[in-house]
Amino acid sequence: MGFFSKNYENSYIYKDNDYYVMIGNFNNSTDANNTMISKNINGEVVHIDNSIGIYDNNHLLAVYKNSITIKSNDYISLLNKKYRNLINIICKNNSLSVINTLDIEEYLYGVVPSEMPSSWHKEALKAQAVTARNYAYANLGTHKKDGYDVCDTVHCQVYNGVNNEKQSTTDAINETKGVFAYYNNELINAVYSSSSGGYTDDAENVWNNSVPYLKAVKDEYEEGAKQWTRTFTFDELSSMASIGTVNEIILENSSVTGRVNKLTLIGTNGEKVLEKEEVRTFFSKHIGGSLDSKNFKMLKANNYISANSKQDNIEKDNTIYAISSKGSSAINRDVFVIDKNTTSSEIDNMYVINKNQNISNLLPKNKDDYNTNSNINYVSKLTRKDSNSVTFVGKGWGHGVGMSQYGANSLAKKGYKYDEILKYYYTGIEVK
Ligand SMILES: [Zn+2]
Repeated sequence: MGFFSKNYENSYIYKDNDYYVMIGNFNNSTDANNTMISKNINGEVVHIDNSIGIYDNNHLLAVYKNSITIKSNDYISLLNKKYRNLINIICKNNSLSVINTLDIEEYLYGVVPSEMPSSWHKEALKAQAVTARNYAYANLGTHKKDGYDVCDTVHCQVYNGVNNEKQSTTDAINETKGVFAYYNNELINAVYSSSSGGYTDDAENVWNNSVPYLKAVKDEYEEGAKQWTRTFTFDELSSMASIGTVNEIILENSSVTGRVNKLTLIGTNGEKVLEKEEVRTFFSKHIGGSLDSKNFKMLKANNYISANSKQDNIEKDNTIYAISSKGSSAINRDVFVIDKNTTSSEIDNMYVINKNQNISNLLPKNKDDYNTNSNINYVSKLTRKDSNSVTFVGKGWGHGVGMSQYGANSLAKKGYKYDEILKYYYTGIEVK
């Protein structure tokens, strides 16, 4: 199995124990001699004139036309990263490509730590290992025409070689070695997202087709789901939608999952109807990017839920900032919402900045200190007459289909085993 490729104009191979450079597949090479050309050199691989040049201490050792293979009895170091097993360097289209060939389980060692924090519960890591294994097999050959299987970016799965490996994720992979998730004896497409916000979604609400094992399930134990708010003025909506002046916005929420299935903007020159993933991605035109999830409600901006009784001095026009420990400061102009029924543990601090730019801390030491304003009203429709801007208040992060990673970690803490976690999120599957 071959994995990942990147184009490097100049690649350097650093000495790392006893590696050696071997001659690879070089059909048209003029200087093939099938012998090991070097051992323990401080090698350097350079792209020269559509060929691969190998230098040792500034001395040109050899030039190869097509490819070389580097093998090591330990790891191969390349561009400050370490790789397992075998590296092919291929000269194609006037640049060098690097391909790491290794066993799929070893590949997962480098992948899973990028997908879930390695400090999370063991059973959650094992569930993630199975989804990654399913995903890797399902995507073998994605880059077949380029001469390898999968790339090392988010396009396939992020892969950073040995440097990224963590003992906890390596253990999770070893302990589920060869285990896959199946539906009707076929490998499932094990899609997942960071957090569902309380309910996962049906595949057909996000993509085109219904999938029997990708059905909405109540994610009631999920803890730590991202909470977010975004505010847009009607003028901003107008410039994004290109339907003249937008005067009205209408949301249709699914009664089961609470997600927005349809968002309609009505302008002076027509309507813009957003459905499926467009409900999120439409907002990528705005500086804040796509919405984090489709699990949101709408309210009139300026209609904020305030913090505890110590904030009596907050005036309606003040702006409230929330600071989270993860650095993802939730900042918005007019509104901040703490939902006492879900977790707001990620919020470390809240500040209010008044018109004179004075900053006062709302000292939210305990989320139970927050009093919600009973006047808050979520609405399904707003017009420019009602308010000059709208605020979305949401939960969750990602498309919401399949496994919720935060939910998986919560289930693991409750005692669920990895196969039970997978069966919770993927309806009717087998894990074996
Ligand atoms: Zn790719």
